[in-house]
This record gives sequence, C-alpha cells and structure tokens, in this order.
Amino acid sequence: MSRLIDGYDLVILDLDGVVYLGSEPVPGAVEELNRLRRTGHQIRFATNNASRLASEVTALLAGLGLPAHPDEVVTSAQVAAQLLGDRLPSGAPVLVVGADALRKEVAAVGLTPVDSADVKPLAVIQGYGPALRWSHLAEACVAVRAGAYWVATNTDRTLPSPRGPLPGNGALVAVVATALGRGPDVVVGKPQPALFQRAAQQAAARAPLVVGDRLDTDIQGAHAAGMDSLLVLTGVAQPADLLTAPPAQRPSYLATNLAGLFTVDGRARATVPAEQTGWRVRRVAGGLELSGAGAPLDGLRALCTAAWAEEAGAEEAGAEEAGREDGAAGGGTGVKAVRPVGPEAEAALRELRITVG
Ligand SMILES: [Mg+2]
Repeated sequence: MSRLIDGYDLVILDLDGVVYLGSEPVPGAVEELNRLRRTGHQIRFATNNASRLASEVTALLAGLGLPAHPDEVVTSAQVAAQLLGDRLPSGAPVLVVGADALRKEVAAVGLTPVDSADVKPLAVIQGYGPALRWSHLAEACVAVRAGAYWVATNTDRTLPSPRGPLPGNGALVAVVATALGRGPDVVVGKPQPALFQRAAQQAAARAPLVVGDRLDTDIQGAHAAGMDSLLVLTGVAQPADLLTAPPAQRPSYLATNLAGLFTVDGRARATVPAEQTGWRVRRVAGGLELSGAGAPLDGLRALCTAAWAEEAGAEEAGAEEAGREDGAAGGGTGVKAVRPVGPEAEAALRELRITVG
C-alpha cells in the first residue's frame, strides 16, 4: 500500500479543528504531526486569524507540545500586508483596522500604519481585533470613500468560542460594506487561494496537500489553489455534509483524523467504487441506500461516490431545467436521506452520524 502522505512533499494545515480545538489539542494530532516531521515532510500552518503574529502561533503550538518555526506559519495578516507592500510605494500610509499583530505586519513590509483617514491613507487593511471600536470602522468608511484601496484579511462571519460563535472579521467587514454600499477590493483569507499559494511558494513545494476541517474554507481554498486536499472529521464538517457538498467543496481524501496521512491508502480518494469497499450503494427516491459491510469510512467514500456521480448525471438529464443551473453550481446533490439495509449498514451510518431517512 502506498500511504497518502507519500504522494506529497508539503502538508499545509489548518489549525482550529485540525491541530487544536479552542485551547485543547485535537486528540492524537501532536503525535501525528511530530511523526510527519520525522518523515522529512515540510509543514506549514495556514490561518485566517489576523490577530496573532506567526511567533504567537508558534508559542501556542509549543504549549501543545508541537515545536514549530515562525516561518512555518502563514497568517492572513502577513499575506494581506505583503499584498499592500507589493502594491504601494515604501512608507505609504495604511489605515489599520484590526489587532496589534496586523499593525506590526504592515510595518514589517515597509509601510506606515496609521489610525486616521485625515492623513490620506492609500489603503485600508481590515482584520479581526478584539479591541476594535466604532470609530475605527468609521475611519475605514471615510478612507475608502476618499479612494483608499480596501483589503480584508478574511471574511469569516464568526469566530469559534467556548460560548458559541461570536462575530468574526466578516461580520465587521459587513458593517463597513453596508455603510459604503460595496465590499472590499480584495479578500485574502481562505477560501481565496492566497494563503495556500504563499505557503507552497515559501516551501518551494511541487506537491502540496491541504488538510482542513471545513468544506467552505479549507477545501474550497484548496480547489481554488489547484491543490489536493484531505478533510479530517475532527472539526466543523460532518460526514453528512459531504453528501450534499457542491463540486468546489469536495475533498480529494477523507480521514477521521490526522492519522489518516499515514493510514489512508494513497489510491483511496474520497470517491472509490463501492465494490472495492465491501459496501453497495443504490440510488433510491430522494437519496441513497447503503448495504453490505465494511469500515464506516469506506461506507462514506462509497456514498460520496454515488452522491457526487449522481449530480453529474442529474446535470445532464436536467439541463432543460432552466434557472436551476446557478443553484446546481453552488448547491447540493439532491441527496436528502440515506437508508441502511441490514445491521452493519445501520451501525455504520450511526457511527458516521448520518441521519437515516
Ligand atoms: Mg478549521
């Protein structure tokens, strides 16, 4: 068997939901990543969070037992600042709406962080910052209206927290966008490809693999960057989400957790013919029927194969359904339920937390 990891020279990891959950490490993640280091693979951590410096991220990782170098961390703040550094003359004033880390990244690329629209900033850079005030958002409005180029580090609508989702940078960007009647000139973070591209460039990688827990940021970003991806089921995405995922959010591989880098067969893509798995999948009205026996994750692969292939067929068959094309491009596969046949299938679906229709 060729291991999944053997086909790649760089692994680009999302952090929350992959390496840690809030302040706790994902069980087994530290061991698997230290093992990855011993195989000589390059590692990069790519985060949309613009409120921490790379060195702060490595301090956090070190606290979990995972030594990392700041050069191995790519943040949306760094990439957004770099984008402005490439675009603006050295020393140009940039209005910073965000955390101190963002201000430092702007200074690090030779630009001048400022707080007021009155000094005629050439650009506005906006990222999440816990100490943001209304007045910062107001300055951003004035500066953008006067012609400043507006860069958002990311547009995550929420931030995970122990108290549930809280307003993320996307929510704050939306405040300014609502006032201006238009959105930012550019957004840097996932699902845009810039973080992954920068990580691959820095590492001079030829075969990067993106590992993430979210379909709409990590996996979609990997597609946008033209990179293969592995979805791990330790964070946001649930098995059932895969069955309705639009094409741009379908991972190349699936694994329960990071151990999959070493245990998943490199040939076991997220879609494998059901007969190779011990399972059988049949299309029934409104969904799929799973029978046979085998590993639950193989059952999920077989179900994905059927759900995703069905959509390709449905698109051809339903081409005359005018007006549905846009919905199909961003939307689902039409799979509403999965019916088990036999106790093995029932147990597998229960373990995958796929609702039985
Ligand atoms: Mg995540």
